[in-house]
Amino acid sequence: MKILEYHHMKEYSNMKIGGIAKELIIIEKKNEILEALKERENVFLIGNGTNTLISDGELDKTFISLKELKGIKELGNNIVEVEAGFDFKEFIEYMAEKDYSGLENLAGIPGSVGGLVYMNGGAYGTEVFDCIKEIEVVDENKEIRRVRKEDLHFTYRKTEIQDRKWIVLSAVFEFGKGFDSNKVEEIMSKRNERHPLNLPNLGSTFKNPDGLFSAKLIIEAGVQGKKIGGAQVSMMHPNFIVNHGNAKFDDILGLIEIVKERVKKKSGIELEEEIIIVRN
Ligand SMILES: Cc1cc2nc3c(=O)[nH]c(=O)nc-3n(C[C@H](O)[C@H](O)[C@H](O)COP(=O)(O)OP(=O)(O)OC[C@H]3O[C@@H](n4cnc5c(N)ncnc54)[C@H](O)[C@@H]3O)c2cc1C
Repeated sequence: MKILEYHHMKEYSNMKIGGIAKELIIIEKKNEILEALKERENVFLIGNGTNTLISDGELDKTFISLKELKGIKELGNNIVEVEAGFDFKEFIEYMAEKDYSGLENLAGIPGSVGGLVYMNGGAYGTEVFDCIKEIEVVDENKEIRRVRKEDLHFTYRKTEIQDRKWIVLSAVFEFGKGFDSNKVEEIMSKRNERHPLNLPNLGSTFKNPDGLFSAKLIIEAGVQGKKIGGAQVSMMHPNFIVNHGNAKFDDILGLIEIVKERVKKKSGIELEEEIIIVRN
């Protein structure tokens, strides 16, 4: 493993904000994770950083990256085991190549496989767990073990993995046959039309409340376009906050607070952050 001291974390978050971490550890072989966790507290597992806002300033934290763990193994019968660092966009390309079907609706999500599993990421009515059979984790006792999907509790953008602070090392997927490339094209053009992909952002800032859309609630509350410093509630997609280049951590937090306050006042609904916020 590589241990990088006093490492700049800005490039590790898709919001392009982040201070200097005490340590960044890049895991190169699976078992190294146990060594890295030994005698370290205040550890944060960073994937592709596409859902994570990192505080600026000095961070008294060890960040661990699994981006070098990107093995992929065919187990037969359309079953594939993928390591956590594998890029999800590349995994979609792999599905196309192998003619695997089931997760086409998730095309365009920029996370890692590990991040997507941790978040139970999803889109357009499909969640990543729809095609998962089993995951491999480092559990709360710092032991590596496998957990079957039926033994795991998960709901919308939430998994037991979060509550138990597990680390996802790999996941076993089971697909159908017949990759739907038309569906992927349709989804990609929707994303390109609707998402402010030209500016740093973290995707949807807030979870959708039951049966409602955060984006609609934000528009109704009159906060679309609101700016603090270099941060803005996107004019293209109101559930996205974008960084115009010089936004600070506090600008984003300030916007989140204003949006929550105004939505609560207008509709009585309390929005809950979907993004993960790393404070010092
Ligand atoms: C333009 C854009 C569009 C997006 N669209 C969608 C969408 O349609 N649907 C959706 O669900 N999300 C979407 N997202 C959000 C994001 O891409 C997903 O949540 C993704 O799964 C996060 O993966 P990541 O590797 O970037 O995670 P990170 O942001 O690095 O981490 C997110 C959380 O996962 C944890 N984590 C990461 N890897 C592991 C691991 N191996 N083990 C344990 N914990 C881990 C981190 O500690 C953190 O708490 C979008 C983001 C962007 C920028």
